[in-house]
Amino acid sequence: MDQAAEQPRKCPGLNCENDASTLQCPKCKDMGVESFFCSQECFKRSWGEHKQLHKSTNPLRNFVPPKVVSKVDPETGTFNPYPTFPFTGPLRPLYPLSPRREVPKHIPHPVWAADGNPRYSFAKRNHIDILDEKAQNAMRKSCKLAREVLDTVGAAVKPGVTTDQLDEICHNACVERNSYPSPLNYNNFPKSICTSVNEVICHGIPDQRPLKDGDIVNLDVSLWFEGYHADLNETYYVGEKARSNPDIVRLVETTRQCLDLAIAQAKPGVAFKDFGNIIEKHAKSQNLGVVKTYCGHGINILFHCAPNVPHYAKNKAVGRLAPGMTFTIEPMINATPSSRDKTWPDDWTSVTVDGAPSAQFEHTLLVTETGVEVLTARKEDSPGGPIPMPNSDKKDEKADDAATTNGTT
Ligand SMILES: [Zn+2]
Ligand SMILES: [Zn+2]
Repeated sequence: MDQAAEQPRKCPGLNCENDASTLQCPKCKDMGVESFFCSQECFKRSWGEHKQLHKSTNPLRNFVPPKVVSKVDPETGTFNPYPTFPFTGPLRPLYPLSPRREVPKHIPHPVWAADGNPRYSFAKRNHIDILDEKAQNAMRKSCKLAREVLDTVGAAVKPGVTTDQLDEICHNACVERNSYPSPLNYNNFPKSICTSVNEVICHGIPDQRPLKDGDIVNLDVSLWFEGYHADLNETYYVGEKARSNPDIVRLVETTRQCLDLAIAQAKPGVAFKDFGNIIEKHAKSQNLGVVKTYCGHGINILFHCAPNVPHYAKNKAVGRLAPGMTFTIEPMINATPSSRDKTWPDDWTSVTVDGAPSAQFEHTLLVTETGVEVLTARKEDSPGGPIPMPNSDKKDEKADDAATTNGTT
């Protein structure tokens, strides 16, 4: 993400100071050499000199190769900032990112707003906070607002809308509610929402790519209101094509069910490590893979804290649920049995290694005396929501169970 956009390339014409256009010397092109001229006139004028380059046994002699240059679309001014990166699927980042959005001064800013550093102390890493009634009510409030924000953004999902436009909607909806969008500048994340399209597992950065009919997109909203963080996400179908693709529907609906099944078992005394068994069992029944790198987490006055809540089976998470705890469950499930992920050079965007789509759902939960209260629960009129599963045809391939490190989303 710190990798700045390259300078526009210069015309190699004789004594020419102009920027290059998309006009390329056909001979150089055949030789696999980039030489873009500013104009036909300049190309003709420079021909005598330029053609010498073609004769050379080494076509690169006397030719200063441009640095790896992102090809800027002349119509839209957009470009892929990592043209040589081995992407795992069809999705590409589409820059430039929009300028950083500001949160008005009258809204309290968390510590990372200034320099990106959340300054977490890990002294209490295994201590799980129990919230008193006042703090529980504060969590209820911030989670209710976060649900409103997610619903506002979710309602805007349709083909043609860019993820940057969704970021703007999220940012404004947070600000209207006197809330700071927690992701903004958190460890230098540049935007106010995570938008994870298709093969993106999580932490997708909103950019200039318009959503396409047939995409799925996860919207992960978190906000900070009166000192308390709320965190939830849902995956949405983009257009009818997505809703009528049986593999996509099976992925998205199974992931939704994974979260619901885990929540249904949540009550005081249950171990945090048990959720992974429930989730992986259900995912495997549909031949889907469970991501291991990112986990659910405690959440309160801290955005991310103990407990750590893995979504895969046989994990070693510490602790049991007790009344007053607040935490998230947020399974990330892949359309193939592979659980493996890879990160783009922006240091955020996590994708499946095989380029297969991935879905996710998340709630913030409060442990009560008898179960959990879903603080970020859907409302009757919330956009999105379950659609019928296609007839399942289970396959029996062996699940990929390569282990990776535990992170937090
Ligand atoms: Zn989240
Ligand atoms: Zn989370």
